[in-house]
Amino acid sequence: MILPGATLGLLGGGQLGRMFTIAARTMGYEVMVLDPDTESPAATFATEHLCAPYTDTEALARLARECAAVTTEFENVLPTSLEMIAEHIPVRPSADNIRIARDRILEKKTIRDIGLDTVDYHVIQSSADFDHALTQITLPAILKTATLGYDGKGQAVISEPSELAPAYQQLGTKDCILEQRIDLACEVSVVLARSVCGHIETYTVAENQHANGILDISIVPARVKPEVASSAEKMAQKLAKELDYCGVLAVEFFVDKKNKIMINEMAPRPHNSGHYTLDACLTDQFQQQVRTLCGFKPGKADLTTPAVMVNILGDLWSEGTPSWDELLKNPGVFLHLYGKKEPRHGRKMGHFCCVGVDAESLLDQAITLKKALV
Ligand code: ADP
Ligand code: MG
Repeated sequence: MILPGATLGLLGGGQLGRMFTIAARTMGYEVMVLDPDTESPAATFATEHLCAPYTDTEALARLARECAAVTTEFENVLPTSLEMIAEHIPVRPSADNIRIARDRILEKKTIRDIGLDTVDYHVIQSSADFDHALTQITLPAILKTATLGYDGKGQAVISEPSELAPAYQQLGTKDCILEQRIDLACEVSVVLARSVCGHIETYTVAENQHANGILDISIVPARVKPEVASSAEKMAQKLAKELDYCGVLAVEFFVDKKNKIMINEMAPRPHNSGHYTLDACLTDQFQQQVRTLCGFKPGKADLTTPAVMVNILGDLWSEGTPSWDELLKNPGVFLHLYGKKEPRHGRKMGHFCCVGVDAESLLDQAITLKKALV
């Protein structure tokens, strides 16, 4: 067990890293964050900010030397960097698990090998794969880069066979998957925490609405049939177990019109759709990251109240600073801002969470409040 007073290392100092850092410092740990951004949102709360690239061997060596354990806020860090650190101290989740989560090709294969459903897809590694892919996948489909995509970036919708070649080129002629586009009834996600000894705490299933490929709203509990929620939970737990996963794991699902549930992707870290846990659960997902990193069982994940979370993007600054008073005058609404100075289009600047009696009326309140912000 790693006890308070020890230093925890963190790769990535964005908003997820910031909320991890706040949780860790609250529990009495020191945090050393590696992030090349001089204005890293996590750095404000960290004990020390190593401002260097994620591949900087000197910085990685310092983390290995001075920290008791290391975790990451994102999957784009190189697994080899994590392996270097793991020779000295625990790295949770493991480099192997990060390797899977950062590569859609390996991720989908792993999920299927475990016996869990995904959408139909075909791997594209060169233009020679186009013809075969087009006989396997019915259009419309989505071409997605294998690595480095997020918030809908690195994707192109393919409606006609002729669109494939230019889209592949536009995405940088990198390894891709061509994935069936399905008619969604809804999307849900499960966030869970698993300790190094295999104890799992699973959060209530969230229903997620996206706008322009970016998460917009999470509704908890998800408005799906109990069987759908329960199979999502079981699938996420099975994935975590089979991967011998340690840390916080988020699993995104597609639900089609026949209530068939398929895994879309996994995130080896706290997830945007789990931000509601900060205001509506006994233990939040960032405390879980600290607990599991330090060798403890996850805390209880019980939902204390229905919740609706709304993302606040840079777009809301179009008419000047949003009217925060519209949110803060409501006793059941919680505002979280990430300390980012530049409100760019599509950039996640913060979120707010409405809690109350039932998800349906919270959703109405959330939509009204979001409009009132501008
Ligand atoms: P990201 O890594 O950017 O989150 P996703 O693969 O999760 O990428 O895609 C982002 C969003 O785009 C999804 O949450 C979903 O709304 C939509 N989407 C992606 N793939 C499909 C698909 N095969 N069919 C229908 N919608 C999809
Ligand atoms: Mg996604």
